[in-house]
Amino acid sequence: MHRLSQKLNFSFERKGLMFVLSSPSGAGKSTIARHLLQEEPRLSLSVSVTTRKRRPNEIEGTDYLFKSKNEFDMVREGNGLLEWANVHGNFYGTPLEPVEQAMAEGRDMLFDIDWQGALKIFERAPADIVSVFILPPSIAELKNRLIFRAEDTKDVIDERLENARNEIGHWIDYDYIVINDDLDRAFSEVKSILQSERLRRDRQVGIGNFISDMLT
Ligand code: ADP
Ligand code: 5GP
Repeated sequence: MHRLSQKLNFSFERKGLMFVLSSPSGAGKSTIARHLLQEEPRLSLSVSVTTRKRRPNEIEGTDYLFKSKNEFDMVREGNGLLEWANVHGNFYGTPLEPVEQAMAEGRDMLFDIDWQGALKIFERAPADIVSVFILPPSIAELKNRLIFRAEDTKDVIDERLENARNEIGHWIDYDYIVINDDLDRAFSEVKSILQSERLRRDRQVGIGNFISDMLT
């Protein structure tokens, strides 16, 4: 059984998917994304470009590609971005080339982007996107997490909380909603969504040959 399923997973030609995680800031999407990347070797993170200042714990090229506004504009004007948006007063964008490469190779990509980015990708590639919105259990808990994370100033935290209500209003645009109360449960729910979406018939493009072989 195990050998058969291994063969199924690795020998079929398959179509990659774009797995989008969004949430109001502080709800836990980066934490869930990190766990997912550790457990899923066939998933790679889309590293965004941003004009936001680097936080002390962030690594250039791993968390973001940090750019000045001029550099960001040059990438955008050169059609180097799949999508871009102004979020909390900073610019963020998804580099196009790594996504095209992953899709061409049948690999999956993970996007930690906001609702504006999710909508733009949906417009460009509706069949390939699977979107998950992560909700906090309450606004009070969201505030606690932003304070506990201790990476933003009080003004930035206040601005993010202010924006959270607007962001939460976009839940309706997503395929799946996960409430991140207990982290282990939320993570396992997100992982199940990814695993199920990988098994969709239209993503297993090589399955027809397998079935033909089986029947002859
Ligand atoms: P986001 O990427 O959505 O802005 P983070 O992943 O950075 O949020 O999480 C914000 C803070 O909340 C972090 O300190 C993280 O460790 C913590 N956190 C994440 N999920 C939970 C949870 N289920 N319960 C308690 N704290 C959590
Ligand atoms: P942060 O500054 O906390 O890392 O991210 C702020 C917000 O910007 C988050 O909601 C995050 O998902 C979003 N974001 C990060 N990268 C991108 C991107 O490339 N495009 C879009 N549209 N949003 C992004």
